[in-house]
Amino acid sequence: MSDNFDVVVIGAGPAGYAAAIRCAQLGLNTACIDKSLGKDGKPAFGGTCLNWGCIPSKALLDASYKYLDAKEHFSEIGITVESVGIDVPKMIARKDKVVRGMIQGIAGLFKGNGVTGLTGTGKLLAERQVEFCPHEGDVTILQAKHVILAPGSVPVEIPPTPIDDDRIVDSTGALEFTEVPERVGVIGAGIIGLELGSVWSRLGSKVVVLEALEEFLPMADQRIARDSLKIFKGQGLDIRLGTLVTGSEVTDQEVVVSYQDKEGEQTVTFDRLIVAVGRKPYTEGLLAPDSCVDLDDNGCVNVNELCATNVSNVFAVGDAVRGPMLAHKGTEEGVMVAERIAGFKPLVNYATVPSVVYTHPEIAWVGKTEQEVKASGESYTVGQFPFSASGRAQAANDTQGIVKVIADTETDRILGVHVLGPQASEIVAQAVIAMEFDASAEDLGLTMFAHPTLSEAFHEAALSVAGHAIHMVNRKKRN
Ligand code: FAD
Ligand code: AMP
Repeated sequence: MSDNFDVVVIGAGPAGYAAAIRCAQLGLNTACIDKSLGKDGKPAFGGTCLNWGCIPSKALLDASYKYLDAKEHFSEIGITVESVGIDVPKMIARKDKVVRGMIQGIAGLFKGNGVTGLTGTGKLLAERQVEFCPHEGDVTILQAKHVILAPGSVPVEIPPTPIDDDRIVDSTGALEFTEVPERVGVIGAGIIGLELGSVWSRLGSKVVVLEALEEFLPMADQRIARDSLKIFKGQGLDIRLGTLVTGSEVTDQEVVVSYQDKEGEQTVTFDRLIVAVGRKPYTEGLLAPDSCVDLDDNGCVNVNELCATNVSNVFAVGDAVRGPMLAHKGTEEGVMVAERIAGFKPLVNYATVPSVVYTHPEIAWVGKTEQEVKASGESYTVGQFPFSASGRAQAANDTQGIVKVIADTETDRILGVHVLGPQASEIVAQAVIAMEFDASAEDLGLTMFAHPTLSEAFHEAALSVAGHAIHMVNRKKRN
């Protein structure tokens, strides 16, 4: 292996591997270093997303929903199932197989595109030199013309509930239970907490979610947050807002959690406790002091809107920089940086980063919430359509939720789209495209949608901005 590269990427999560692949596609001699090893001890490119994040959580969310569906909903549609059981080790093993397949996929993409994939630790030194310390073998110094830092993030730990990887786990440990615990506590009603809480609740655990804030999903549209809280509580998730966890005591069998709420100091006992209180950028050991790369007050690598750090030709992307910690946001940044290194001028449109909560129903949105638009003083009009009025949702026996389109009253441009409902994650992709192309609600109304589809609810919500929805009675009527 030559030690000289056009680009060295540190981190092979969705931000780093996408950057490396795009660099190689553009003819740049590229290496990508990652230190992760999988559960099987083998090199595991793919970062948090593939190993301990998006993919394994969705494997368990899908499996657990199928179980719940068979157990609770099949009889409603005339399917009789004598008994529905769960084999948790098999479920986990299938999840692991999916993960391993995806990891191999990244290794294959590296090979196919000519990226030099290196397993070990990378550290940025001065003058774009990178120290590569393999898990086995000697340290090498790589010289790069450009460096892309993509080290990702790790779970936040809080002093009251230290992770012991047995009774108290973080999001990684919550993907590995080998049986269904009777009582599961989740600290944090953020996206990860709700998803992991849903998995174990569907499989039969009694799940209590302890959330310090009084408000549920403050980053979502208030109407959607309110409706979804009601639905999740109806599903049996015991979501306790305004509940600050202050301590824990672990015994052989259980964990007693202390918390403070309006009533004062309380305790609640669980078999397992999942700590899902957020993630923080991971830059430990990444930067030698003379690399001179600045971090910001949150510990993120400080970058501008083009992901350039304060050091020339050193970039940073993904969870380790400002903005939402989402795989697709990191991927877009990685690709943007690769193309800029190759001389092109793309930008990331941070106004159209979609967010998804993979509960059932799903929650997904893009753009501004109604409370944000209201606070900004813009004049706006809301169009809404309930899934209960969608033929496809009725046919599928899956009718909870709404689509909400917020448009600028003067220009009719779409300011935000908020979906609570089946396949909200897929529907919101259409809203992202519409917003990327600066569509108006009328443009969407004039667009033909296949029938019967769940996406028609989005079409009808856009039509209802002007009071033109067909399949519901419009509150406001306009010509
Ligand atoms: P990471 O994926 O964290 O990858 C960074 C990699 O760099 C890691 O492999 C790390 O080991 C390696 N590394 C770090 N430092 C060094 C070093 N010095 N040398 C060598 N290697 C190094 N996001 C979504 O968009 N959708 C979801 O559905 C979703 N679900 C999630 C579910 C869970 C349970 C979790 C925990 C996260 C989820 N996320 C989801 C978030 C998503 O996983 C992250 O936003 C994404 O992985 C960030 O990508 P990244 O490339 O910035 O960093
Ligand atoms: P997110 O950052 O979106 O993953 O959400 C994490 C959630 O955990 C936030 O809503 C925090 O308010 C919540 N949280 C953090 N610390 C505590 C704590 N000690 N007790 C209860 N909730 C907490």
